[in-house]
Formats: sequence, C-alpha cells, structure tokens
Amino acid sequence: MSDAKPQALRAEALESLLIEKGLLTSELVDEVVHRYSERVGPMNGARLVARAWLEPEFKKSLLEDATAVVADYNFEGGEVQKLVVVENTPEIHNAVVCTLCSCYPWGVLGLPPKWYKDPAYRARIVSEPREVLTEMGVELDDDIEIRVWDSSAEVRYMVLPMPPQDIEGKSLKELETRVTRDSMIGVQRV
Ligand code: FE
Repeated sequence: MSDAKPQALRAEALESLLIEKGLLTSELVDEVVHRYSERVGPMNGARLVARAWLEPEFKKSLLEDATAVVADYNFEGGEVQKLVVVENTPEIHNAVVCTLCSCYPWGVLGLPPKWYKDPAYRARIVSEPREVLTEMGVELDDDIEIRVWDSSAEVRYMVLPMPPQDIEGKSLKELETRVTRDSMIGVQRV
C-alpha cells in the first residue's frame, strides 16, 4: 500500500466510507468498474475502429491525426491529448506497450488490463513480440512484420485492427460490437 498513489488511497478510503454509511455497495462499485473496463471505455475505441472500417475518409483522418478526431468525439476518460492510431494490414501487425510504466489511452480504451502493467509483458513484447503474441492467441506468419509502439506520457497509441472477414453488409453498430479492447492493443484479432 505504501507505494500506492495518493489518489488511489483516497478513492479506497472514500469507497470504504460510503459502503460503511450504506450509501454504496461493493457490488455496485465492482459493477461500475466492470462496465467501465469492459464496455464503456473500449466502446469509444470500437466506435472509431468500426467507422474507420466502413468510411475510408474517416480512416484516413484517424490515421493522420487521431488526436483531432478524438477531440471531436469529446470522449470522457482523458489521456488522449496526443493519440496515434496505427493500422494493422496483411503485412504489418502492430502492438502497444508502455515499457516504463502503464501509459494507456483511457479515453478510447477504458481501464488498462492488469497484464498491461505486468513487467513481463512490458519487457517481452519488445524483446520477443512474436512469442508473446502467439501466447496471447495471435499467431503470425514469419513474413508479417511486427511493430511495437511504446506509449508514454507524451504519446498514446491505439491499434486499428484488420476488419473481420465477414464485414460485407454489416452495420456500424454490428461492427462496433466485434471490436475488442485487446484487438486495439494489438494482442488479439477481430
Ligand atoms: Fe507509462
């Protein structure tokens, strides 16, 4: 606990107090965290990805200046003051890490997964990306180039995954539900 950030300690203290006073239940807290981490956060990114799959002009803008696109959407969550989106193609696979700590684009991806902060992921995705991706379920042919992007306090990265094979005839809403958080970190396929 001693190395926890003051904000985290304050949040914990506040949560305990509210639960003690009967104003909040721990189930509700868990539910909110779950919703934020699994749906609301990543859904922002998913909206961008699905739209980029369907609208070439939008995709162009997103790849050229994601910061401006995201500013227009006005997402909550922050940490996207400088956002760069990198595109997966049949030749190039991108993955994102923060080698120093856990920099992550909260505004588009929500809460970072636990493994994102794991020293093993942070080191190995750089030193042996192909092995790590295979372990996480993304097997890539040897001729596919892997690019690993190191997020920092200055620049946060998000992956534009390749569209699903059956994209034909799918609506924006349908496609949004197909985009996972992990696919936008680059450790999963859609
Ligand atoms: Fe960091």
